[in-house]
Amino acid sequence: MRYDPQQRKENRAARVSMALVRMAQAVKKIGQMESDDTGLSPVQIQSLLFTAHTRGDVASVGSLADHLGTTHVTAVKIVNGLVIKGLIAKYAKPGDRRITLLQLTSQGEEAVAKLDRWGEALEEAVQSLPEEALASLETGLGAVLSALQRRGHLVVAEPCLGCIHFRPNTGQDETPHYCNLIRKYLTHEATLKQCPEHKPSFLAP
Ligand code: SF4
Repeated sequence: MRYDPQQRKENRAARVSMALVRMAQAVKKIGQMESDDTGLSPVQIQSLLFTAHTRGDVASVGSLADHLGTTHVTAVKIVNGLVIKGLIAKYAKPGDRRITLLQLTSQGEEAVAKLDRWGEALEEAVQSLPEEALASLETGLGAVLSALQRRGHLVVAEPCLGCIHFRPNTGQDETPHYCNLIRKYLTHEATLKQCPEHKPSFLAP
């Protein structure tokens, strides 16, 4: 039989895609299992963690929808459920009232503090892999995430470090860093929070 590199690549891509689908199913099942004890659904937990770790001025309903990979309408319903539970507060963004920002209530902060074991079952399973397999997986999955991000299928919020818009140590005193995108000086703490606008160098034009 004639060796066809293109066919071989396509077959491998199909096998990897199927493995990723199976992994997604397993991760969903683990998430459901871990959330059972909290009285919250996996998507509610993801929304609370998003609100806790995203910079306050960009923690909007729209960014949450991108983060969850869902529609704006669905994100609004999820948020409203958390508002009813007293875990999240909504408020209009100062200067642009069309944008709704999210903030944890004190009850929401307590709920997030109890989520420190969230994701542990998956981490345990991954930790059981040999070091070499883990290193290959890290490289391979990073490449998959980058490809999905390039095609607009995934929004990955990250802190400022590594973002093409980040100008560290160009400010003064309380706001030592600068963001060239929002044209604003930021506190060091703000730059450590996740930002949905983060643009890594591999996505630069
Ligand atoms: S766009 Fe980049 S530099 Fe600006 S706040 Fe977001 S992550 Fe930080």
